[in-house]
Amino acid sequence: MSTTIYADNAATTQVSHRVLQQMLPWLSQHYGNPSSIYGIGREARGAVEDARAQLAQALNAQPSEIFFTACGTESDNWAIKGVAHALAAKGKKHIITSAIEHHAVLHTCKALEKEGFTVTYLPVDRDGLVSVADVEKAITRETALVSIMFANNEIGTIQPVAEIGAACRSRGVPFHTDAVQAVGHLPIDVEALNIDLLSLSAHKFHGPKGVGALYIRKGCPFPATLLEGGGQERGRRAGTENVAGIVGMGAAIVEALEGLPEKTARVQAMRDRLIQALTKLPKTHLNGHPHRRLPGNCNISFEGVEGESLLLLLDNRDICVSSGSACTSGSLDPSHVLLAIGLPHEVAHGSLRLSLGDLNTPDQVEEIITGVTQVVERLRAMSPVWEKIKDN
Ligand code: PLP
Repeated sequence: MSTTIYADNAATTQVSHRVLQQMLPWLSQHYGNPSSIYGIGREARGAVEDARAQLAQALNAQPSEIFFTACGTESDNWAIKGVAHALAAKGKKHIITSAIEHHAVLHTCKALEKEGFTVTYLPVDRDGLVSVADVEKAITRETALVSIMFANNEIGTIQPVAEIGAACRSRGVPFHTDAVQAVGHLPIDVEALNIDLLSLSAHKFHGPKGVGALYIRKGCPFPATLLEGGGQERGRRAGTENVAGIVGMGAAIVEALEGLPEKTARVQAMRDRLIQALTKLPKTHLNGHPHRRLPGNCNISFEGVEGESLLLLLDNRDICVSSGSACTSGSLDPSHVLLAIGLPHEVAHGSLRLSLGDLNTPDQVEEIITGVTQVVERLRAMSPVWEKIKDN
């Protein structure tokens, strides 16, 4: 049996056994192309449409408002570039977003700036919250789209989505939210929350990797066609559907929402135990909002410690976590999110993200607490700066 303690559920999650069982037949005996009109093609079409209905129901949307994509990144790109391009012809070339979005949103906005769009990057407060008043002030007659994430992937802060949506709705501006970290973990009702476009990704809620969706409200300025080709996804996103992946995403959302309040309470209790124990260490702080945060998210800065060293020493103990450095880009730049909430570079460098899920256990949490405490103490004992930091 694996002894790995996986505490990086914000990066990805394990495909659930039930989801896998539902996917397998669509990779073997039911191999038809959903566009084929004979029996096994019609079966595959039925499976794709069932999954569309499952996702629509989970979000309180209509099945015709759900479009399948290959991932959350694709959904974000399509929503933002698509609406921007659709409205540019009407002289609307302004986009509002926040400084703490995922790169799937930020880099898309940067690409649009190169095309002549202007982008307002709203700041956040120390807890990572966007101010609704700032959104209202930033909207102009040229604003094509507001894109503010539902919950942050690093610090877990949950934004006032309903209020931002209402502010956009009353001014006639479409509102997109990157809900990749929220779907399957928080109840989401696109009607009640005034959302016009929403991105999601299956692998964040025990579904397979490489499949996502974009919700597009009926009547919303329609994002331009993403992929030209066959008529799939009502001609907007051509390409033979990833049938098994789509079936898996539908099964995963159904499973994620079963008993959600109980699962949330259990995960939140483990998260709070982690936060309470780790913030007892000296010069150690919680990042993100104290209450408005994802149930499994714990992001902590340990002064006098390098996050990367912490991560590697925890890996030696078979504990998987994430650090606050953008190591994927090949640099060790501190995270733009931690800088945006006002952390100095050196503190941002000593940050760790632990993201728990419903497969974690209280015993694992105790092992994480012991592991992190010992590793932090060891690194601080070797650190040339710790003595000075400690006495300040
Ligand atoms: N948006 C957020 C907030 C994320 O956390 C992620 C992935 O970590 C993405 C978008 C990208 O999703 P995907 O990995 O499906 O492309």
